[in-house]
Amino acid sequence: MTEIDHYESIRQKMSIDELGTPKHKKTIEFLKMLYNKEEIELLDKGFDRGYQPLSARNISKKTGIDKNKVKEILKGLSKRGLIFKLASKYMLMNLVPGFFEHYILTHGDDEENYKKAAKYFRWAFLNLTPQMYNNLKLKGKSIWLPKLPYDAEEKIIQIDEGIPIKDQKVFTGELVRELIDKNTTFAKVYCQCREIARISGEPCNYVSEELGCLLCGITAKIAIDQGWGEEIPSKEEAIEYARKCEKAGLVHFGMNVGAITFICNCCRDCCCGLRGMSELGLTYGRSNFDPKWNPELCVFCEKCIEICPMEAIQHQYPVKEENDVIFFNLERCLGCGVCAENCPKGAITLVKVRTDSTPEMSGLGKKIQDNILG
Ligand code: SF4
Ligand code: SF4
Ligand code: SF4
Repeated sequence: MTEIDHYESIRQKMSIDELGTPKHKKTIEFLKMLYNKEEIELLDKGFDRGYQPLSARNISKKTGIDKNKVKEILKGLSKRGLIFKLASKYMLMNLVPGFFEHYILTHGDDEENYKKAAKYFRWAFLNLTPQMYNNLKLKGKSIWLPKLPYDAEEKIIQIDEGIPIKDQKVFTGELVRELIDKNTTFAKVYCQCREIARISGEPCNYVSEELGCLLCGITAKIAIDQGWGEEIPSKEEAIEYARKCEKAGLVHFGMNVGAITFICNCCRDCCCGLRGMSELGLTYGRSNFDPKWNPELCVFCEKCIEICPMEAIQHQYPVKEENDVIFFNLERCLGCGVCAENCPKGAITLVKVRTDSTPEMSGLGKKIQDNILG
């Protein structure tokens, strides 16, 4: 097999189902920058697919390469964030979510590579991954699903009598509250997307660095144990953190099925998922809810317009005797609830209008969880 084949082969293996690492010459250049020939050959010969947990011994057996040599290479890769390690097993991951977060949080590569990688990620998140996510969404396999704000059930969700009651039920994974309430361990990590924006010389204009991702349960424990997550000492503080993110206009995103509870708090300027949605007008991360506006309560302060990450809200001014209208462009809306959460008059509620997207339905979250946690 020629050199280029190993890189292309690894690109193909950096995937799970259709969530992969899109083909492009810049992707191959990126892999060549990160892995030397010996490393890529070992990985290609050792692994059959992404998310296949293998020990150094497994790989040594498979490749016929001396176990100590395999260990040395894998250890080096893990230190640079180029392979995921859990206990004594190693695995390949898809580009994002997966490899990207791990590489940035590990921050073990040399600074020059780190900077170049940041630029590649920024480019790929606008030019390669949005189309992949959108195709997954069209096939009913969404991976970006907004979780409604912590107090959504009490404050925001409105029951629409016209919709059959069974469809009004809030599904597992639709609210951020579920993830926080059922867990006891919490951690936060800096936002990796805002970090690569900063490294690339385009720092986030939208939120302060202090707000990042919120991790719960086993995911938080792993992050604290491995030293890349900062513990949040109590549930109350975790709730406070989630609310702070909501007030800053951030959208809680994530697959978060079962034990993997990595709640991204995403902004439109930097996020690897939301930026593509916002700039390209693709709604591959849409909830089952639509906003509903109450003109009786609205004072036309335009806070909702300012804060909507999709620029989906407009103030329509009257021409003659009609009233002002706050218009929601539902073609662009994600049903994230950020407008409702931040409306000072409670003039926006969310109504369940679809039942087509649930974290379980995508199946991908479960697949990743089963592979990682066994
Ligand atoms: S997905 Fe969102 S919160 Fe997560 S790292 Fe990216 S911008 Fe930050
Ligand atoms: S934030 Fe609320 S009160 Fe202000 S314009 Fe929007 S809907 Fe009206
Ligand atoms: S209109 Fe409201 S619910 Fe829709 S994307 Fe904007 S902030 Fe989110």
